[in-house]
Amino acid sequence: MASDTFRHKGLRRQLSKLLREKGINNEDVLRAIENIPRHLFLNSSFIERAYEDIAFPIGSGQTISRPHTVAFQTELLELKKGEKVLEIGTGSGFQTSVLIEMGAKVYTIERQKSLYEATKVFLPTIGYSAKFFYGDGYKGLPTFAPFDKIIITAGAPTIPESLLNQLKVGGIMVIPLGENIQIMTLIKKVAEKKVEKTEFGEFKFVPLLENKEWGD
Ligand code: SAH
Repeated sequence: MASDTFRHKGLRRQLSKLLREKGINNEDVLRAIENIPRHLFLNSSFIERAYEDIAFPIGSGQTISRPHTVAFQTELLELKKGEKVLEIGTGSGFQTSVLIEMGAKVYTIERQKSLYEATKVFLPTIGYSAKFFYGDGYKGLPTFAPFDKIIITAGAPTIPESLLNQLKVGGIMVIPLGENIQIMTLIKKVAEKKVEKTEFGEFKFVPLLENKEWGD
């Protein structure tokens, strides 16, 4: 496996500085970005550009999100150490590792079998352990609910009701809502049947797919 070097660490410090300039100010999030060897999450042909603020293909038609998007979503979650977090869309596992760096206990679901299998094996090899699940994120994980926080890393047309039911009262869900372009949306569950929504600008995600096979 490719290694992590002082050069990579230097590039990560620059990336973290760039994210700060773009408005990320949660120190724990910036530290996580500085600690995680993003170049190891990428196909070797993109490795040289791993610390630019761009998304890359990770196979099966999916992408690893831009560092700014990952940092932005993580910041909105207001994570505290030890919180139980449900992540929908494991993908490369980069967002998963950021959540773990923040001290969260992560349950993550991926619907692409090849990505699920690759990431479940890869993440522990660089020191990040999570509970990995293969399945449809729309359904969540009722047996492990409730969760303190829920993060969706694919564009959802609407808020999945079943996921809202698996969120604790007082909990936060961060979800990019929309078909072609998504509006980053923070949902706070203020009471059993009451939510407060706050919107945070446009982002671009691959779609959250329901009961459809992509060809895997
Ligand atoms: N967080 C990832 C981003 C991956 S892109 C990263 O940091 O790399 C979004 C991911 O969501 C893709 O891997 C896609 O396969 C997955 N996905 C799409 N619909 C899903 C669903 N219904 N359930 C679980 N995962 C889904």
